[in-house]
Amino acid sequence: MTELPFTRPTLGEEEIRSVQKVLESGWITSGPRVAELEQRLAQYIGGGVTVRLFNSATSALEAVLLAMRIGQGDEVIVPAMSFVASANVVVRAGATPVFIDVELANRNLNVDLVESALTLRTRAILPVHFAGLPVDMHPIHQLVGDQNILLLEDAAQAIGTVYQGRQVGSSGNPVVFSFQANKNMTTIEGGAVACRDDELVRHLEAIRFHGIALNDLGEMMVDDWGGKMNMPDVCAAVGLAQLKNLDRFIKQRRELAQCYLRNLPNHPALLLPVDSPGHSWHMFCVCLDFTAIGMSRQEVVKSFKQKNIMIGIHYPAMHLFGLYRRLGYGPGDFPIAERIGEQTLTLPLFPAMSKEDVERVCTHFRSLMV
Ligand SMILES: *Cc1c(COP(=O)(O)O)cnc(C)c1O
Repeated sequence: MTELPFTRPTLGEEEIRSVQKVLESGWITSGPRVAELEQRLAQYIGGGVTVRLFNSATSALEAVLLAMRIGQGDEVIVPAMSFVASANVVVRAGATPVFIDVELANRNLNVDLVESALTLRTRAILPVHFAGLPVDMHPIHQLVGDQNILLLEDAAQAIGTVYQGRQVGSSGNPVVFSFQANKNMTTIEGGAVACRDDELVRHLEAIRFHGIALNDLGEMMVDDWGGKMNMPDVCAAVGLAQLKNLDRFIKQRRELAQCYLRNLPNHPALLLPVDSPGHSWHMFCVCLDFTAIGMSRQEVVKSFKQKNIMIGIHYPAMHLFGLYRRLGYGPGDFPIAERIGEQTLTLPLFPAMSKEDVERVCTHFRSLMV
């Protein structure tokens, strides 16, 4: 049996030709292809947003926090279950992440817990659209109302996700996407901010490139700090080819996810992910009660590996990392995030997979659950 990775980017002739053109053009770093991809993404997302590209979603999140002057003394509410970048960017900005628990069924932040985490220092809430399943943003918008609290959506896993009939990213508040190699579309490494705030866009442009802005005479001005977070045209060229196929990739992901949902065993020890019409299925993550089946996670992962099937772990609960224990967090703080962290397995899911591949995974899964 050939090796089945847990994910693999779908790259073809179009990406190769697109990159080759840039390499032959004489201009390989940020330039016309970046501008073109920004335009195309804004069209794709809709809602009149402006998009600015970065060299990663991590940079993009940091840039938004810096631009909004969120730092020392400020608190940012973050779900305890996400990729660690979601909290690290808050620390990098000098602010304090305030974790809250998530919901078991959808792994997104528990909206009911947001209110009790609010303090006079709360400057932002950072919901994460986990695995491409949209966060129910409506009650969060209602809760925040006209208070001066930024909603910064971490949609790193959610390009192409639809919430209430609209693309995630079209809300107007800043929304960050990732185009890292494993995401639903890739620029190899890369990220983006979508927003409807011209002032923020100007700040982001300066922050991603040395703080430089041009005055009316075209002269260089530096009024605030900026770093080096720009995306090269070579990467944007990959993204332009990928974006054309994004809807097809997501359709294939949805069909494969449906196939998993139909074929995985119905067993009390196994918790399947919830479906939703707008889900972009970046990952297919289950929870398995290892005690109930008498095997450790390591043993389960190893048994899949012996069948040449690679399993991922997304993710350990963030508040239990040493960095966050030093802020005073520890075991027992967020029982749902901790349970997911202990029980989670990510099954292979990527557009080039076949339904036979899904069945191969399910067959082995069933053999473990007798
Ligand atoms: C991938 C990811 C990031 C970071 O994206 P990069 O482009 O690799 O910086 C941030 N948050 C979440 C939820 C992610 O999955």
